[in-house]
Amino acid sequence: MIIVLKDNCSTEDYSNIINYIESRDARVHTSEGIEKKIIGVIGNKHDLEPSSISALPGVEKVIRILEPYKLTSRKFHPRSSIVEVGNVRFGANEPVIIAGPCSVESEDQIWEIAEEVSSTGGDVLRGGIFKPRSSPYSFQGIGKQGAGWMHAAARHHNLQIISEVMDTNDIDALYDKVDIFQVGARNMQNFRMLQTLGKMDKPVLLKRGNSATLTEFLMSAEYILNEGNQNVILCERGIRTFVEYSRNTLDINIIPMIKNISHLPIIVDPSHATGKVELVNPVTLAALAAGADGFMVEIHPRPHEAFSDGHQSLNFNQYRELLNQWTSLKESVISLRELNNKNVEIEIF
Ligand code: PEP
Ligand code: MN
Repeated sequence: MIIVLKDNCSTEDYSNIINYIESRDARVHTSEGIEKKIIGVIGNKHDLEPSSISALPGVEKVIRILEPYKLTSRKFHPRSSIVEVGNVRFGANEPVIIAGPCSVESEDQIWEIAEEVSSTGGDVLRGGIFKPRSSPYSFQGIGKQGAGWMHAAARHHNLQIISEVMDTNDIDALYDKVDIFQVGARNMQNFRMLQTLGKMDKPVLLKRGNSATLTEFLMSAEYILNEGNQNVILCERGIRTFVEYSRNTLDINIIPMIKNISHLPIIVDPSHATGKVELVNPVTLAALAAGADGFMVEIHPRPHEAFSDGHQSLNFNQYRELLNQWTSLKESVISLRELNNKNVEIEIF
């Protein structure tokens, strides 16, 4: 439930309310609303009655939250969250650009790509070190030495680093080498790993499972937030549908939907969503226009030589074309974002 405080709620009233809740075995989560101060209450099932809380001095009203997700909900946290990674800000006005290979393949390959991402204005270098593959016979990732190459290349070019972890051992292996831990679609409901990531002091990019509902997606994010780590970035990477012309279907709807019900930033991955080079650029632009806080695309200097996902990797010319198209749209998309963001924040009360 959420407790909305009166404008004139005193410090003493405020502490009394908090003590009242905590003495009944519930947890509080405090947050500034747009105009109101609010207190979120989590974990209590029986001992707290909204009518009793309403009677406490300083309380304006009590609202029950019916959704199972709380910490990810915009009702608990009306202002949009900004996740900061070095000098990069997810959820601020300017969408974040993440690019890199599907897999790190060699030292030369990752240095060549880091140079491209940095010289064209990108923010974050992606690259799989440990790869979740549908077949055990496919390339499983270069392993830990690749993380060292990627780290050196990214730091040299002033880029942040993201790479996927598939189990808790990978978290230790990559801890010193990455700035953002990626949870892949196949691991969205690896709850143990989500809990471990929730105790870490690095941001997590959580990809939506390819058949996950919106509620399941947010409940997975809730696992991370509930352990303390509030720096979660959501990523829509396509869901499985009946279409046969693309690998998955990017669920554009979920971008404004998430913006309405959650404060967390959401980016898109049009490479895995479409699985086709020719679809990546238009779908990226559509997602940005729909409010995405950034995009992550796979790029490769010679896609036909890629160890994985070459068919959906942009070559450098195609990538630059995307960036040019984005530049021509950017100003109007950013004004639209500012307007929409204000509206969703204000609608809450
Ligand atoms: C990836 O980004 O490298 C990846 C494997 O993506 P997904 O988990 O979305 O399939
Ligand atoms: Mn890939």
